[in-house]
Amino acid sequence: MNAKSNLDYVIDQNVYVCDPVPQQTEDQNMVYPFYDHLRENRLTTTQCQDCGQIAWPPKIVCNECMSDQMEWIDFPPTGKIYAFTTQEAGVPPGFDSPLVFALIDFDNDVRLISALIDTDPAKVSVGAEVTLKVVDAPRDRVLFFFTLV
Ligand SMILES: [Zn+2]
Repeated sequence: MNAKSNLDYVIDQNVYVCDPVPQQTEDQNMVYPFYDHLRENRLTTTQCQDCGQIAWPPKIVCNECMSDQMEWIDFPPTGKIYAFTTQEAGVPPGFDSPLVFALIDFDNDVRLISALIDTDPAKVSVGAEVTLKVVDAPRDRVLFFFTLV
């Protein structure tokens, strides 16, 4: 995405009335390293050191065994589209229309949903590979999306 995109503009205009991406700092959130990792262009989550469960989104306590021994792990560099849909009406300001939303499978058994940006919707297909696309936002914040490889 360009240095000053439509998305930047929208966030600039709305950040003081409706914070779209809260809790990215150490004093607000115990999983704040997630955002530090995004700034390094790394998508990460937590894995339980006691039972091996991988959490998504990252957690400080394991859902399976209640352990608090969680370690940060990196996602594989690419995921594969399991399913997708396109939004043609009411696309949020700052995004191109149509906007593609995809369920993305990773080799770590995580399936997540994300918008695809900088992507030609006509080229999106089930099984296509996607990779992380981190977008800087005002006030030292980051957002993440995916794009076709
Ligand atoms: Zn566990």
